[in-house]
Amino acid sequence: MEYTIAFSYLIASLLFIYGLRCLTHPETARRGMHAAELGMLLAIVGTLLHHEIVSYEYIIAGFIIGGAIGAAMSHWVPMTALPQRTALSHAFGALAASLVGIAEYYTHHGHLGGFKMTAISLEVLLGSLTTTGSLIAAAKLQGMLPGAPMTFKGQNLFNMSLIAVTVGLFFYLMVSPATGWAFYLMMVLAFVFGVMLVLPIGSADMPVVMALLNSYAGLAAAATGFAISNNVLIIAGTLDGFSGFILSIVMCKAMNRSITNVLFGAFGSASSDSGAGQEGGEMREVILDDVATQMAYARQVVFVPGYGMATAQAQHVVRELCDSLEERGVTVKFAIHPVAGRMPGHMNVLLAEANVPYSQLYELEQINSDFPNTDVSVVIGANDVVNPDARDNPGSPIAGMPILEVDRSKNVIVLKRGKGKGFSGIENPLFFKPNTGMLYGDAKDSLAKLVHAVKEA
Ligand code: NAP
Repeated sequence: MEYTIAFSYLIASLLFIYGLRCLTHPETARRGMHAAELGMLLAIVGTLLHHEIVSYEYIIAGFIIGGAIGAAMSHWVPMTALPQRTALSHAFGALAASLVGIAEYYTHHGHLGGFKMTAISLEVLLGSLTTTGSLIAAAKLQGMLPGAPMTFKGQNLFNMSLIAVTVGLFFYLMVSPATGWAFYLMMVLAFVFGVMLVLPIGSADMPVVMALLNSYAGLAAAATGFAISNNVLIIAGTLDGFSGFILSIVMCKAMNRSITNVLFGAFGSASSDSGAGQEGGEMREVILDDVATQMAYARQVVFVPGYGMATAQAQHVVRELCDSLEERGVTVKFAIHPVAGRMPGHMNVLLAEANVPYSQLYELEQINSDFPNTDVSVVIGANDVVNPDARDNPGSPIAGMPILEVDRSKNVIVLKRGKGKGFSGIENPLFFKPNTGMLYGDAKDSLAKLVHAVKEA
């Protein structure tokens, strides 16, 4: 039986690595997900064969309850709420790691060696802070807590002291594993630290924070693997931990922020709401038929999707418009910003669902030099990712964040419902530029009307 378990863990680990590899490209991502799912199934089956399992009753009950919650969530949670759903998954995964650690300590604490105690402490420390941190992140993303940073005087000092005491207890437990009060105090402080870590972070930085929490949850799982001598947990947790960390660095780069600035910079606070839209002027509203004519006779049209395309669920009708334009000989491209929408790859997923070929999607570095050759750029419910203040106004809260430079196109058409701000809550000077026209309305409705009007043009 030992060999069967070890073999299932080996294959599961290889499938996880293969899955991660496939996730690096949109065309192979689906295959990667299936490979990772199969790996997880093998890991679960292998674990269920362990001779240490004394009874299957609780496992079956957990399987039924967890499976039912998972199935319901996959059915009813809309795509636009995926970030907060992911935050909840991190919270529950981390809580599981934490509980395993607490149970291990409770059962064996008189006889724990230094190595095992270190693994258990790390698991509980990271697991506990990730649990509460992820719950706060989910609440912020869901709008149950204010999205703006929640700060108070001396907060950074308080947080530093809190983590210093928590880490101090961690080291103390390495030399004195049997000190129960130190273990339970460390656990409580880690839960509190998770809350304090995420409260001062604005929701605009939440994707980076979530990638970081994902990384902590992975490392907590790896520590669990060491604590209970489970190889597949060590491998899967390490893969999760480091891929999450790499993702947070990639996202920081996409937003031109450092990790320390994200964690301690309180981005998006009321004082940072300055600096944009000062040039005044009026937004110029345009008529749908004029936009259709402009597009129908253009040489090149670039679509720039953002969060508004996701809320409007306009991806299918964009594809229709794209087809109509191509039939008329117009070159159509899609410009994708790495943090457009509310989760990494949000736009890629939606456009793939609508069967927009991957070859038509262009990343920021590939498309920016092409905007001056573009007759019409159509911004579909995007705002922050096309805000020229990030490039032109050093005082802007989003200064330095790489943007899609649509303002350099010959004409820009912005599809949005009204004068609502973007995720960062700041004004966008793009909307006031002379080459920009505003087409107000729900993106899906406007695009459906444009499909019709382009055919008539
Ligand atoms: P955005 O800045 O949030 O702007 C979205 C725009 O869409 C709004 O100005 C809104 O204006 C419009 N809109 C909303 N519903 C619409 C509808 N049904 N039809 C037409 N327009 C609609 O979006 P973004 O440019 O994609 O930028 C993403 C932002 O989210 C960035 O600040 C990023 O840092 C942040 N973020 C990203 C992630 C990620 O991982 N991708 C995660 C969390 C946060 P109206 O209200 O006037 O319609």
